[in-house]
Amino acid sequence: MNDYIKSLQDQDKLNISIDQSKIFNWKFTKIAGPCSVEGPDIIDIAIKLKSLGVNALRAGAYKPCTYPVLKENRGWKEGLRDEGLNLLSEAKKASGLPIVTEVMDASMIDKVGQVADVFQVGARNFQNYTLLDELGKCDKPILLKRGTWATIDEILGACERILVGGNENLAICLRGVIGTPSYRHVFPTIRWAPDIMMIPALKELSNIPIIYDPSHSTGYRNFVEPISKAALAAGADGLIIECHPSPEDSISDPAQAINYDELKKILHNG
Ligand code: PEP
Ligand code: MN
Repeated sequence: MNDYIKSLQDQDKLNISIDQSKIFNWKFTKIAGPCSVEGPDIIDIAIKLKSLGVNALRAGAYKPCTYPVLKENRGWKEGLRDEGLNLLSEAKKASGLPIVTEVMDASMIDKVGQVADVFQVGARNFQNYTLLDELGKCDKPILLKRGTWATIDEILGACERILVGGNENLAICLRGVIGTPSYRHVFPTIRWAPDIMMIPALKELSNIPIIYDPSHSTGYRNFVEPISKAALAAGADGLIIECHPSPEDSISDPAQAINYDELKKILHNG
C-alpha cells in the first residue's frame, strides 16, 4: 500500500459506514431503471420497479454517451434533458422511489438537485474536478462512477475530493474498465471489462460503499446476472442495473438492458 493511499485512509472522513449514510443504507442496495428517461412511460416503470423491491430509480435525463455523436439515436441526442427531469419528478411522486440521475457539470447542480435524491457522476466526469468540488459542498448523496481508465489511487483521490468538502454521503460505482479486445469479435456490444477485483481492493483501503454496475460492465444482457452474482460474492454493497420493459427497444444501451423478470431473478437471489 503506498503512502498516498494510507494518508487518505487516515482521514476520519473516509471511514464512512454504509449504515451512516442516508440512502446507501440497505444491506443490498438495489437501483434499477432504464439507461435514459425516454418518455412518460418512466412513471409506470417506476411503479413496477417499486413493486419488485427496487430501492431507487435510475434513468438519465442528461445522457452523455460513449460515442460523442450517435446518429442512430433518432434525433434524441443526449437525453430528454429538462423534459426528462420533469418526468423523473412525476415518476418519483407516483412511485415514492428516490431518483438517481446524472449531473454533468457544476452549473447543473441546482437544477438536477430539484429532482435527484442521489447525484450520479458519470464515468466521463469522474475527474471533472470542478464538479467534484461543488458536490463536496452539497448534502445530497453522490454515486461516483469510476472512470474507465482509473487506477485505485485515482478512485480514492476522486472520493477524497468530494469528502474533504464535507459531503460524506458517497458511494463508488464500479462499471467496467478499458480492455475487452478478446471478447469483441464474438460479442460486439461488449465495451468494457468487469472490474470485480476492485471491490475487495477498495474494501481493504476504505469503508466507502460500493455499488456494482453489471450492465455497463458487460454490455450484454445474458451476462448481467452472472456478473451481478460475482459482484455480490466479492463484497459489493449493492447493484445498479439497466432494466427496461422492452429491453431491445431501449433508445440507449439496448443490448445490456434486462426485462422485469430477469431483474426479479437477480434481486431475489441477492
Ligand atoms: C449511466 O449509468 O447512465 C452511464 C452513462 O454510465 P457510465 O457513466 O458509467 O458510462
Ligand atoms: Mn447506459
